[in-house]
Amino acid sequence: MIIGIDLGTTNSAAAYMGQDGPKLIPNAVGEFLTPSVVGIDTTGKLLVGRAARDYQVLEPTRCTSLFKRYMGMEKLTRIGSQTFSPEQLSSMVLTSLKHDAEAFFGTKIHEAVITVPAYFNDNQRKATIAAGQIAGFDVKRILNEPTSAALAYGMHDGRGDRVLMIFDLGGGTFDVSIVEVFDGALEVKASSGECFLGGEDFTTCIASNLLKQKSMSIEQAELKHPRMVSRLMQQCELAKRKLSQEFQVAVRMPNIEGDFDEGNDSIAVTVDDFDAWTDRILQRIDSPIRRALGDARLTRDDIDQILLVGGATRMRAVVDRIQKIFAKKPQSHLNPDEVVALGAAVQASLFSGDAIVNDLVVTDVCPFTLGISINKTIGDQPMSGYFMPIINRNTTIPVSRVDRVSTMRPNQRAIEIQVYQGESRMVKDNLQIGRFEVTDIPLGPAGQEIDIRFTYDLNGILEIEATIVTTGKKVSHVITQYSKSLSPAQIRSAITQMQSLKIHPRDEAANDAVMKRAERLFKELPPHARNQLGQLIEGFEGAMELQEKHAIAEFRELLDRTLDILENDGDSEIDSYNPW
Ligand code: AMP
Repeated sequence: MIIGIDLGTTNSAAAYMGQDGPKLIPNAVGEFLTPSVVGIDTTGKLLVGRAARDYQVLEPTRCTSLFKRYMGMEKLTRIGSQTFSPEQLSSMVLTSLKHDAEAFFGTKIHEAVITVPAYFNDNQRKATIAAGQIAGFDVKRILNEPTSAALAYGMHDGRGDRVLMIFDLGGGTFDVSIVEVFDGALEVKASSGECFLGGEDFTTCIASNLLKQKSMSIEQAELKHPRMVSRLMQQCELAKRKLSQEFQVAVRMPNIEGDFDEGNDSIAVTVDDFDAWTDRILQRIDSPIRRALGDARLTRDDIDQILLVGGATRMRAVVDRIQKIFAKKPQSHLNPDEVVALGAAVQASLFSGDAIVNDLVVTDVCPFTLGISINKTIGDQPMSGYFMPIINRNTTIPVSRVDRVSTMRPNQRAIEIQVYQGESRMVKDNLQIGRFEVTDIPLGPAGQEIDIRFTYDLNGILEIEATIVTTGKKVSHVITQYSKSLSPAQIRSAITQMQSLKIHPRDEAANDAVMKRAERLFKELPPHARNQLGQLIEGFEGAMELQEKHAIAEFRELLDRTLDILENDGDSEIDSYNPW
């Protein structure tokens, strides 16, 4: 069995192909979305998902999130006394999803399709494969998120020929893909996007503007009062969601210790404030849309359906802007949080050759231009640093292209190939993704020729081969030098470090999640309103202490219901304490 995994910036999900279509796999607390948050509590126990997200509000330095943004970079994150790479942090989420799938199917699961933003570069894709390996997966395919969503929609909506635009705004990344559907085949015509644009930027923007009103910058506040910022972010996240339905919300401001004072210091934020603050962020969706349309040689009017993917497309402002650009209402008849995982399950099923996906065909593209640095003679001066594209952006993959370069000087024995990704004329404005040397070039005049072949595979991984034309000598190079991707030895050592972490038995995950949520809400309630919740928490602790399964389950349910009321319900008695 191969499962499909959406490894998201804020939430992750796993899915499989059922009898009548793709289905999500519930996690240990019975939910389909697992927050991409990890933490280690004071006893050294690893927390992943909802428990970690609740724990993060109270103990931000013992937890971390948004690590997908750093995939492929050399950024270590400290949690408690240990440090972890983004690959390791992602592997913890993947391991949790793996255990959920194994519990669901009652069998070991070894293979997965994992999705990534279409705009992820070589480094980020390799880091995702490494994360999968650390979690014990054989990663069968790295699949682009919008392509995955198109597969889910293709499967769901049937055959009719049409042109789709997949608009995918997640927690941290933005992708837009244009997909043509004809005769059951899905052809991605063009993809574009931004790796640093997502729902979290809108939340941070609210927080930053509120702190400004208190004469603080968010960067400073994060350094000096991390707990305050963490709790404010949580309030801003709620506000962001509510502002899609309401004209005004009150954001509770924590004090510098991160607690809510009894006086209830809150600031009103209106839809107009939100729109004014976030307009610059929202404008950034325009240029990837324009690029994708241009590359697909289509205009706005050619798009039949705009499909929304990613939780951040629930923002009213996003829907309004799309509607303004296309004069068409975007659709989201599949849940935007779940559709990518469902599509990954469809791709997994294509691998397994299941009858249900019988003649479904999908083709994808390489979303950016790949090439090398060359010198040019301008006038009679040799000038360096020009970008020579070898694979142009939005070429259908897999693709293999060759181009020829030559030596500049007589008797030049070696040439350095510097590999770049990007759209600029000069390499200094593009991203360097690799570098290697071709040596043993035969002695002779300038102009010795070398063929450079780029091969970009279905996972979006680039391989390069250089051939000295006169001798036939070949140098093969998978981009690894700059990819900071982990070597097999590093992956083994990461696995060992993971094994040393205390992972809680899965059947206790639900208790953990409820406890962490209860502790967070307890602190949020004004002291005079804490009694009832305090008693429930103690009852639950008592039941766990005595290991009475029945009582544990009863208390957990009661506690869960009470917490739901505290957080959501409009007309309960407890809600009179809720400042919302
Ligand atoms: P994803 O990475 O697709 O899980 O998207 C998560 C992002 O969607 C986060 O930034 C959330 O804040 C955002 N999000 C989820 N639900 C809503 C909502 N109802 N309104 C606004 N943003 C939302």
